[in-house]
Amino acid sequence: MSKKAIIAIDQGTTSSRAIAFSEAGEILAVAQKELTLYYPHKGWVEQNANDIWLDTLWAVKDVLGKVAADGYSAEVIGITNQRETTIIWDRKTGKPIYNAIVWQDRRTVDTCQALKDRGVEADITEKTGLLLDPYFSASKVAWILDHVDGARAKAEAGQLAFGTVDSFILWHLTGGQVHASDASNASRTMLMNIQTGAWDDDLLALFNIPRQILPEIRDNIGHFGDSDAQILGQSIAIGGMAGDQQAALIGQACFKETMVKSTYGTGCFVLMNIGQKFKTSQNKLLTTVAYQIDGQMTYALEGSIFVAGAAIQWLRDNAGFFDHAAESEALALSVPDSNGVYFVPAFTGLGAPYWAPDAKAAILGLSRESNKAHITRAALEAQAYQTQDLMAAFAADSGTDIGTMRCDGGLVANAFMCQYLADIVHKPVELPRVTETTALGAAYLAGVYVGIYKDLDDVGARWQCAKAYSPSIMADKRNEALSGWAHAVRQVLCA
Ligand code: ADP
Repeated sequence: MSKKAIIAIDQGTTSSRAIAFSEAGEILAVAQKELTLYYPHKGWVEQNANDIWLDTLWAVKDVLGKVAADGYSAEVIGITNQRETTIIWDRKTGKPIYNAIVWQDRRTVDTCQALKDRGVEADITEKTGLLLDPYFSASKVAWILDHVDGARAKAEAGQLAFGTVDSFILWHLTGGQVHASDASNASRTMLMNIQTGAWDDDLLALFNIPRQILPEIRDNIGHFGDSDAQILGQSIAIGGMAGDQQAALIGQACFKETMVKSTYGTGCFVLMNIGQKFKTSQNKLLTTVAYQIDGQMTYALEGSIFVAGAAIQWLRDNAGFFDHAAESEALALSVPDSNGVYFVPAFTGLGAPYWAPDAKAAILGLSRESNKAHITRAALEAQAYQTQDLMAAFAADSGTDIGTMRCDGGLVANAFMCQYLADIVHKPVELPRVTETTALGAAYLAGVYVGIYKDLDDVGARWQCAKAYSPSIMADKRNEALSGWAHAVRQVLCA
């Protein structure tokens, strides 16, 4: 009997990848292609949707070839993807009628503002868990229908299909047989009522979107369809699908209420599992579908920090403090503390829980003794403070203290940052053995579908901790540090 592999498609903002995992969750093969972002006007961000599909197809074929050569048979495919990015294509030809409008795109700011002025934001949040913002797909869908010649009429006539990237890939992978999405991706469109799990007529009317273009919403685990052998070379079941941040939550096996996953890359994305009861946030967090299994929704609170590793990049590239991000650790440890220096990295405003888009970054508390080691240390410490601000919001919104924190992303290579994070959040910080948590999450979902794993509990039992950091700071030192940070943030907000 041949060995089994699970193929995860991880279609992200900057690259399209496929990763093959063994049943034990080990990485067997990886293939990746960088994806170009286009900026046709100020605030507009687009991608070529055909490239998204063709690069993904290439990557899957490549890993299939690699694992076959090693004697593995590909059992199932799981898909994870950049969320909210919007594609509309012709049902007959499969051709996109416009470029993919990427989640970062701000062209629909005025549409969203007009809706805010009508006073509908609270109703939208109550249904979707989201804040009314161009980030989500709804206003992007309407923009394409209103700006591509003849699109609206074709949409009304049922000739067009809308999908986020998961749906677009699924449609192509199945040779145009399946037009479906999963609840986690659908929850980011601003068109799904996340309490009922269905597309919402009022929201569709608000954004002027015909129901005929929407995909079917499915559980995160199930038979999404089979790959078309003529296209992929093999017919393989697609058994799991989830948006990237939800997939990372699943890859980190945060299946119990209060568990948190936090990803420290360029920015930082944090999700807390809040169980099966929907709650809206009072602290500018989002509520989102973590996953839906057998029709049962599990929710998460989500908060993002715009600048995490980007602050280290700034010290490297703009301030010229060091040549490699990894050097920041030794530099930070060369001084006993930041000597009262705080670095508020609001280069692109402040995210949750402040939502101050116009805030500017600042380095505060400088004295004659301050040097680059103090500033670098302050930049790493800022990761912990920003996380703690989010954790306080999570705790307030969920009504429970946060549980285990499982972290990933490039910055967790920095042991100083991880220890300070554990100290300031005052929780153990766990790092996973398999660091590709997003792809692993898609693989876990697909693996449950084919019975490689019994259920999510079985997956949870297999998750392995590579390293854990325990809080060790004294309470008074922590309080002092946090009040210094709060003071620094206040100064940035008032500036
Ligand atoms: P993304 O997926 O957003 O591209 P990654 O997860 O690859 O990001 O993480 C890259 C980020 O992590 C960069 O901003 C980099 O500056 C930072 N980084 C990587 N290694 C370290 C390190 N050892 N110490 C501090 N920052 C680091």
